[in-house]
Amino acid sequence: MMESIICFGAGINSTAMTLLLYEQGNHLPIVFADTGCEWPETYAFINLFEKYLLKQWNIKIIKVQSERGNMYDWFWKEKKIPFVRARMCTRIWKLEPIVRNFPTAKVHFVGIGADESHRAKREFKRYKVVRKFPLIETGIKREDCKKIIERHGLPVPPRSNCFICPFQSLERYRELASRHPDLFAKAVALEERAGRWLKYYAPLRKLILLDKYTR
Ligand code: SF4
Repeated sequence: MMESIICFGAGINSTAMTLLLYEQGNHLPIVFADTGCEWPETYAFINLFEKYLLKQWNIKIIKVQSERGNMYDWFWKEKKIPFVRARMCTRIWKLEPIVRNFPTAKVHFVGIGADESHRAKREFKRYKVVRKFPLIETGIKREDCKKIIERHGLPVPPRSNCFICPFQSLERYRELASRHPDLFAKAVALEERAGRWLKYYAPLRKLILLDKYTR
């Protein structure tokens, strides 16, 4: 059988998928590609989930990183920001570290829910990797995933993405500013250094401050 791994993204879907696979006896390596830029809540959830996995199945999450190191530091050095259209950040910090560390794993299990099947890209020809989507195949949606996680006595994980993600909604940036002002300040500093904006139509500093007065 071809070698397989679980691509764990630390969000609701991939957590539920991991639990389901393990319940079914599919004890595959669980791999998390760490950009170094997740929200602190996500790192806290990963620690908690790992404790649970250790207790239940004596398994640890394998953390891999890009050869370029921490994503924020790299963009800072290059005076750039993650760019929406190119999505190079996903390739360099999420996909390639996994492929490089598991070159013989040609099947990647990915947690995409049945209600988001449009996001499911079945293969990465460039890396000769086939992706499997057990949640889609069994019709499991996001709400079902929450129930699976709760059934294990675990908290539902927070949304997972980098704190400098250009796909983050303004609402999420607002949340970042109030819950993690240090990280928000880092996002603002990165924009100013790059001379480009994460929300392409205006700088964060202006959007969030203006927003404060116009809401
Ligand atoms: S979460 Fe956003 S910034 Fe981070 S790797 Fe994915 S697309 Fe890039």
